[in-house]
Amino acid sequence: MDGKFTENDISHIVSADKAHVWHHLSQHKPYETNDPRIIVEGRGMSVWDHAGREFLDAVSGAVWTVNVGYGRERIADAVRDQILKMNYFAGSMGTVPGAVFSEMLIDKMPGMNRVYYCNSGSEANEKAFKMIRQIAHKKYGGTKHKILYRERDYHGTTIGALSAGGQDERNAQYGPFAPGFVRVPHCLEYRRHEQEGAPVENYGLWAAEQIEKVILAEGPDTVGGLCLEPVTAGGGVITPPEGYWQKVQEICDKYGVLLHIDEVVCGVGRTGEWFGYQHYGVKPDFVTMAKGLASGYAAIAALVTTEEVFDAFKDNADDPLNYFRDISTFGGCTAGPAAAIENMNIIIEEDLLANTTAMGARMMENLAALQEKHAVIGDVRGKGLFCGAELVADRTTKEPVAEKLAQAVTADCMANGVIIGVTNRSVPGYNNTLCFSPALIATADDIDRITDAVDGALGRVFG
Ligand code: PMP
Repeated sequence: MDGKFTENDISHIVSADKAHVWHHLSQHKPYETNDPRIIVEGRGMSVWDHAGREFLDAVSGAVWTVNVGYGRERIADAVRDQILKMNYFAGSMGTVPGAVFSEMLIDKMPGMNRVYYCNSGSEANEKAFKMIRQIAHKKYGGTKHKILYRERDYHGTTIGALSAGGQDERNAQYGPFAPGFVRVPHCLEYRRHEQEGAPVENYGLWAAEQIEKVILAEGPDTVGGLCLEPVTAGGGVITPPEGYWQKVQEICDKYGVLLHIDEVVCGVGRTGEWFGYQHYGVKPDFVTMAKGLASGYAAIAALVTTEEVFDAFKDNADDPLNYFRDISTFGGCTAGPAAAIENMNIIIEEDLLANTTAMGARMMENLAALQEKHAVIGDVRGKGLFCGAELVADRTTKEPVAEKLAQAVTADCMANGVIIGVTNRSVPGYNNTLCFSPALIATADDIDRITDAVDGALGRVFG
């Protein structure tokens, strides 16, 4: 690390942070006695804190974002050039990087055709909800307005997105929520024993049929959309069971329910395909994306729709209300698409989808070996470089370990120079899944360093 701060600067920065910054997802009482950690620099897979300590980042910036790794000069150059030329314009006029990136993105998403820019995953999801509602008004006199979401899935932090939030611990204390959002059961095969009537054979089919049951109970003429994560992220790294997505698609087609896939985490290479849904052959109506879209080099999110959805907003052009009555101020920032263009070029040129598949397989092998060694690992799951290890107190009952023990594992890894994640304050009693989502540039040595750290931590925490 080339020290840009003197020791004095650093202590000033730490105290300014301590005095004035309200950190995300944090209880601040401990900072009265402990200093917050300030991340000062990043290169490739590593970050350095204010004390000059290096960490291998196995979670791509805490929340699965920095897909192409830190310190990418070509992204910085592209953003700099673009913002000096034209940094911002919104409303009904276009921008050069907005147009260029939309063409690149659509090339990776056969069947989809329109890109709506905004600036966070929550916001992109809200826009999909609004479109589903508007289509309900236009086509069905407002009746087909309900939106289904799944237990354990997360779609964002705003009140609308939390209304579609399947993680009760995150939602507690923020209600009342928006009406018209209806929950369907999760599809975590490892915990099927907790779901009444779940079979051992064909679980995926059964789990999808639970969605159909909800549609029938609510009335198919009232259900307009279904919003799902392709692989549930913060809710426990839940890879879909066999046959699940095919059946979900069938159900959506049968009842005229628009399929909205939340790719905020899985999108742009994380699972080894451009998008998570592409593993399962489904045809979404809406796809939302954010984190890996520009790897955190600029704030950008997007909602992508089919041309059919887009066309629904074009008929009756003389009706002054007949268009998508929505704007995102910072959807007009050109830094976002300028960064996204280079981000995508890097993934293509460095063949990072193939690397993700190969390194993801290595991560799963290593985790499976740890499962053999440590009884506390009840299940390992993953797709590409998005993997999880669920910790249980007892393999037979599958009782989750206490949250503080799972957190002790992440703290031990951190003390040994590796940042891993854990499902955190999401599903009551089930904050017990270790999460791994290193940048897509990870090497075999990086993967081994991560799982070695976990091996050591499990030994120390569980003996
Ligand atoms: N959807 C999913 C699946 C997410 O994991 C997140 C954020 N963790 C969001 C949506 C919300 O994205 P943002 O924080 O950018 O609003």
